[in-house]
Amino acid sequence: MTATDSHQPAATVALFISDLHLQAAHPRTTQAFLDFLQTRAIQVQQLYLLGDLFEYWAGDDDLETPYNSEIAAAIRQVSSAGVQVFWIAGNRDFLVGDGFAQAAGLTMLPDPSVISVAGRRLALAHGDAQCTDDLAYMQFRAQVRQAQWQVQFLALPLAQRKAIIAGVRKESQEEQRHKTMEIMDVNAAAVHALFDATGTNTLIHGHTHRPARHLSGAGDAIRTRYVLPDWEYDVKAQRGGWIAIDAAGVIRRFGHDGQEIID
Ligand code: MN
Repeated sequence: MTATDSHQPAATVALFISDLHLQAAHPRTTQAFLDFLQTRAIQVQQLYLLGDLFEYWAGDDDLETPYNSEIAAAIRQVSSAGVQVFWIAGNRDFLVGDGFAQAAGLTMLPDPSVISVAGRRLALAHGDAQCTDDLAYMQFRAQVRQAQWQVQFLALPLAQRKAIIAGVRKESQEEQRHKTMEIMDVNAAAVHALFDATGTNTLIHGHTHRPARHLSGAGDAIRTRYVLPDWEYDVKAQRGGWIAIDAAGVIRRFGHDGQEIID
């Protein structure tokens, strides 16, 4: 860039990430998240965590695990510095409650939510609720999202909850091998129903681990669906990245290396 270049991008005001699947067994992914907080998130007004930040969450009493309390403290550093941090639960960390929210200094939002950033109205979701072709999962989701079920589950000893979750994760990995890619993606009608219900034309979600920008419709009725990537820095072919909105309302996608993805 030259000194006369007047096309400096506007400052980033909000960042969106999801599906980091944080766990102590993935130290590089964990470090990438901590770096992201300290170098990127700390500079913006709002950070949105759109689900599955954790590989699993057994209940807020698991903040006694040092790994979990370190993650909460790292987010807390950012929120204490003045960044508004928002949380939408994923299918793996929907048991996060007020205890974690307070420890991290974040605000929990319902799924879906509508927000206004830089003059734009956006819908946010984790994305699992739109995977309506996966009937077995939708049935499971309906069960575990009931307040009554959660009260009963959280009343079990922590060790027992962890054992049950480990069993469900193993079962789900097994089942996913037999499910087609289509079944595990969002359903087009469910996505349009979300656009209709929220009165928005822009949606950001994660969950499917298929980062993309999808356009549908035409003219003034064009709808844009942004899909966030999952993060995995503990493998050779690293994955990750985020979505950013600048003060002019421009939405950009970035990869695990921090490079903008142009499409
Ligand atoms: Mn998910």
